[in-house]
Formats: sequence, structure tokens, C-alpha cells
Amino acid sequence: MTLFAKIIAGEIPAQIVYQDELVTAFRDIAPQAPTHILIVPNKAIATVNDVTATDEPALGRLFTVAQKLAAQEGIAEGGYRLIVNCNRDGGQEVFHLHMHLLGGRRLGAMLRGE
Ligand code: AMP
Repeated sequence: MTLFAKIIAGEIPAQIVYQDELVTAFRDIAPQAPTHILIVPNKAIATVNDVTATDEPALGRLFTVAQKLAAQEGIAEGGYRLIVNCNRDGGQEVFHLHMHLLGGRRLGAMLRGE
């Protein structure tokens, strides 16, 4: 079971801000911006490389939930960034596909080196 699967199952505490039959969203434990929420498919897909067509409803839901949460957080108009990291070079640390919703400050250049 992945760390995020345990959070989704309620076995590890997290600040859950949204949950439905396809996705769960909770605040990142080490926020990089005033709003930093992870939106995660309830099904444990390891990486973007493992996605199949049957996952399309859950992955589409990531965007509609991101949009809803951005509005709730008051960052929709100012803007925000959605990130999905894949594998080592992408900087992925938790191998349960997730979308980062970041906002609440000027996020600057999209890519920064190590
Ligand atoms: P990534 O590098 O894209 O795999 O992102 C993993 C994210 O998970 C990082 O931003 C971590 O801060 C976050 N994270 C790790 N453990 C937890 C946890 N227990 N609760 C919430 N967020 C976590």
C-alpha cells in the first residue's frame, strides 16, 4: 500500500480537503506555497507511465477538483500551477500518481535546477 493509499483509507492522518469516489485531495505536508494541495486518484496508479484508458475518468476528475479547490482557496483569478511529476528526472518521490495544486504567491519560472 502506498503512503497516499493509507491517507485515502484514513490509516494515516492528513488534512483532507475533498474526497469522492474517484479522487482524494489533501494538504501537502511540506507546502511550497500558501496553497499546496495534492489531488490523488483513489486507485493507486504508480506513475503517468502506468496510466491506461480506463483511468481517464479519474484523471479528468483531477482537473475539475483542482478548479473547484482553486476557487475555494481564492487563487483562481490570481492563478496557480498544476504539476504531475514522473519518475526520477521528474522529481517524483511518492509512487502513487498525484497532481500538485500550488498557488497564493508568484510562483516564478516554471523550472528551477537542483
Ligand atoms: P512528488 O515529489 O511529486 O512525488 O511529491 C510528493 C509530495 O508528497 C511532496 O510534496 C511531499 O511533501 C508530499 N508528502 C509526503 N508525505 C506526505 C504526507 N504524509 N502528507 C501529505 N503530503 C506528503
